[in-house]
Amino acid sequence: MNPIRLAIVGLGKIARDQHLPAIAKTAGIELVAIASRNAALDGVAHFATLEEMLASGTPIDAVALCTPPQVRRAQAQAALEAGKHVLLEKPPGATVSEIGPLVAAAQASGRTLFATWHSRFAPAVEPARAFLAACALRSVTIIWKEDVRVWHPGQDWIFEPGGLGVFDPAINALSILTRILPRPVFVTSAHLAFPANRDAPIAAELDLADAGGLPIRAELDFLQTGPQSWDIAIETDRGTLTLSAGGAKLFHDDAPLIDAKEAEYAGIYRHFVELIGAGACDVDLAPLSLVADAFLLGRRSLAAPFDY
Ligand code: NAP
Repeated sequence: MNPIRLAIVGLGKIARDQHLPAIAKTAGIELVAIASRNAALDGVAHFATLEEMLASGTPIDAVALCTPPQVRRAQAQAALEAGKHVLLEKPPGATVSEIGPLVAAAQASGRTLFATWHSRFAPAVEPARAFLAACALRSVTIIWKEDVRVWHPGQDWIFEPGGLGVFDPAINALSILTRILPRPVFVTSAHLAFPANRDAPIAAELDLADAGGLPIRAELDFLQTGPQSWDIAIETDRGTLTLSAGGAKLFHDDAPLIDAKEAEYAGIYRHFVELIGAGACDVDLAPLSLVADAFLLGRRSLAAPFDY
């Protein structure tokens, strides 16, 4: 079979750091075009916008949308209507309700829509899911604290409406949580702190539960300097299972079970190739729904103004 001819839209941090190397390593897919307002790559067709690329008639089978969530829905709709398979960076959109029409457009055109959750491809996630399926769960604690100035330098879109603020990284924890727990979870209370000059939160605390009353607590912060924390600890009747480093490491009590090199995006592109081959879609809105519910339920407070 010929390789899938892929275009990247938005050549920013994640496209350069993760998508380009993962595509280069993945059998069955090749990068043939870039749509970027600001950047080009040697040897790859370049267009300023997705619309220009689609109008050019350049043979492309699929697009990976690596743009901010606020502009992705319109891009995904245009690409699906032009008969392209679509890979969405996380979060799948700026709202929950905008995704249904994209699923309908993918079904109408018989194309693949893949809403990626890169953290679900971290090496500790599937082993943790298997471990937890055989335990009684007592509590879950999520600590997701990172330095926005280090990981998202100058990305003002994160603090604009639809940019999610601290939930841009924290939704990764929720994507892991909703994969590894045996039962669906829901938000019971939230507190969101908004910088006085911004429209998205810079810190948050969430309480969640499942139907059995499992207590789940999440502490989220975007101003963590020094050591960074991307940890989920689950107390069970068989001890404490801890995913750390965003799911690259797994501990049972203090014993290390997994300490692997991060390879999330290679897993994403393998799955995209499989989905296209199978004529299937993969769209799970559970993590984005939890974030939306945190905004619906959350008490709000004002924090100090934030500038990069
Ligand atoms: P970024 O560095 O700001 O890159 C986004 C790119 O999208 C920009 O470089 C720009 O590309 C394009 N873009 C920005 N605003 C646009 C607009 N208004 N209209 C059209 N294109 C626009 O952001 P990023 O960190 O790569 O994040 C992109 C997405 O990936 C986000 O949803 C984020 O949550 C997700 N993600 C990020 C990370 C991370 O560590 N940074 C990790 C995993 C997932 P051009 O200049 O090329 O047009």
